[in-house]
Amino acid sequence: MTAKKNRKQALFDKFSSQLTLLKENGLIDIELKFDKTYICPLCLNQFSEDDLISDDSKNYLTEEDAPPASLGGSRIALTCKKCNSQCGHNIDYQLKELIEHEENSKFVKGTIQRGTVDFEGKPITVEMTSDGDGKLKALHNEKLNNPSIFMRFIKSVKKDVMLTFKPKKNRLDGKKINYAFYKTNYIITFSKFGYIFLLDKAYNNLRDQILNPKKELIGYNLAIHNSHLKDHIGTHYILDKEIKGIFNIFNLKTKLTQKPYGAFLPIPTISIDNFVTEMEKKIIKNVAAFNKSIYDENADLFSDINEIKKIINWIYNKN
Ligand SMILES: [Zn+2]
Repeated sequence: MTAKKNRKQALFDKFSSQLTLLKENGLIDIELKFDKTYICPLCLNQFSEDDLISDDSKNYLTEEDAPPASLGGSRIALTCKKCNSQCGHNIDYQLKELIEHEENSKFVKGTIQRGTVDFEGKPITVEMTSDGDGKLKALHNEKLNNPSIFMRFIKSVKKDVMLTFKPKKNRLDGKKINYAFYKTNYIITFSKFGYIFLLDKAYNNLRDQILNPKKELIGYNLAIHNSHLKDHIGTHYILDKEIKGIFNIFNLKTKLTQKPYGAFLPIPTISIDNFVTEMEKKIIKNVAAFNKSIYDENADLFSDINEIKKIINWIYNKN
């Protein structure tokens, strides 16, 4: 077996055996179609072990990375090919663009950004590079410009002349950035808790939003950046009654920078609207340091039924 096959098989076994355990203990109310069933966490379609084999004549299971692999994430779950490519196309790339945009606007050392400088009322395309000590270099490429204007431009540029650099328009979309964070956070949560509570229909809207960015069902920013978060990477429980939820803190990193983000997911018995309202009150009152505890990596939430029941109790217990 190849390494990739082994990884996929291990993920399949981990999640499908938890699903069987939950079913046997009456903790989920879903008919499982196969002896070993994997449910795609995004579309909730069921897959069998045969679907681990890539087969373009049908939908099959693929490795899913969260955060995106291009930002240092690793493969922590499986999603179906259809969901995986749909998200890749529609929303995942927004996080990479966001980080690159931030690096570019700060002219972080090593950034290369394409843009224009105006000359004779026309734009000359240049690539701006930064060496991090305040010096920027604009590299012009004759292939990217009208040759005659370009030659006149080159002749006329003098030392110490001021040029206004306009960065190329980016593809950033505030809504899609939100959805990309919803997805990354949802998949990280799935990797830690599997099917214990994520199959709850309370998350149908969230899944629908992740898969269909055009629908605009949820409009909240559930992700925050704060440099202090870097000391708390990992999964946390928010314990305060009105904002009970999961709080994942992760790095988005490129070759040049690394930035910690935290993202919230309310438990299924709290609506996202209420969660956000209550969270804002907390932040206004400056008690943003909400009560939290860290996920116990030693508690086996995939095969220890007592540990699983503790989570169910925490979530669905009204007290
Ligand atoms: Zn799917």
